[in-house]
Amino acid sequence: MHRPTWVEIDLHALRHNLLAIQRKVGPQIKIMGIVKADAYGHGDYEVSRILLKHGVAMLGIAILEEAIQLRDKGIQAPLFLFGGIFEEQIDDVIHYNVTPSVYDLKLAGVLSKRAQYFHKTVSVHVYVDTGMGSIGVRHDKAVAFVKSLQEMKNLSVDGIYTHCSCSDEKESAYTNLQISRFRDVLARLEVAKIPIPLRHMANSGAIIGYPDAYFAMVRPGLSLYGLYPSDGVSRDIGIRPVMCLKTRIIHIKEFEPGDVVGYGRAHVVTKRTSVATLPFGYNDGYNRLLSGQGFVLIRGIKAPIIGRVCMDQCFVDISHMQGATVGDEVVVYGQQGQESISIESVAKQLNTIPYEVTCNVSKRVPRSILEMRMESGLRQV
Ligand SMILES: *Cc1c(COP(=O)(O)O)cnc(C)c1O
Repeated sequence: MHRPTWVEIDLHALRHNLLAIQRKVGPQIKIMGIVKADAYGHGDYEVSRILLKHGVAMLGIAILEEAIQLRDKGIQAPLFLFGGIFEEQIDDVIHYNVTPSVYDLKLAGVLSKRAQYFHKTVSVHVYVDTGMGSIGVRHDKAVAFVKSLQEMKNLSVDGIYTHCSCSDEKESAYTNLQISRFRDVLARLEVAKIPIPLRHMANSGAIIGYPDAYFAMVRPGLSLYGLYPSDGVSRDIGIRPVMCLKTRIIHIKEFEPGDVVGYGRAHVVTKRTSVATLPFGYNDGYNRLLSGQGFVLIRGIKAPIIGRVCMDQCFVDISHMQGATVGDEVVVYGQQGQESISIESVAKQLNTIPYEVTCNVSKRVPRSILEMRMESGLRQV
């Protein structure tokens, strides 16, 4: 038996979300599935397998180590690395057949030389900074940059892309400015007779709100996992959460007025209270700021977290519940009966974004992969 605190990953919901995104952007647009950060905490290998099975063109990762792990597990699909690399990593980029971003001439030069040494041609995508301000060549220097790349014989410039800073805001003038800067670079490359086929820009926010940002390929991350980047985006795309965090009641005790719950005497009981101990805490990624603030679901009813969240456990008041017992399933993020605790609502409580909430579920929490419900019945993946 694995630890009674676990994450359920609903691969059926993942597939549903991918298809919803494909429907939204149209069948002619390719999809790069973003699986960086262990697929936002969902498990990059299982997620990658489902995405590839349902037709994504590439997988996007942030750091080279993530690519190496996926290759080691047997993923052979094109892997796109959008984070920066150091010169020392170039041989691994070539060896593991990763498509890197290029944004610096010196680095690109070394990449080409090393590729020549290994008798290879490396496929690269140019990263144009249209206003995100991270790595990337400034948009007004991009055309000259691409021209210089033409001289590097062992690089194949197959793609060009940019990244949105504000696409989680509705009708953002800044996003439209980024789109027009990118279009301008592409137009000037056409004039210079350097057409680059794979043009991409849109993250989840832009997929939802900025069809002008679709180009040849889109790069959904958060929306694949069934979450919306902000309250400011429209919700008509029809996605649903993939992650559910669960635990079980490990102990129940009656507290008398004056009794203390947890560290720092942060919660002192004022009336007879039934308290359940749950075997998860901040080391599992449940933020300590949820002390006295968060809720969980037990028997389909909300139960408040009382006292401080500990490293490995926390406490909930279940006085208002009939018949809760040790072993009862507890939903921390997700749905139970008619009630639900959304990852977005927890993010809001923590004054952060849903991305951080799922990424923070720690590696100590086992991921349980829910079977795909196929037309032919249940099937183990
Ligand atoms: C993380 C990331 C994405 C995906 O963003 P979401 O908002 O999760 O859809 C796309 N492109 C790049 C370059 C990224 O870093």
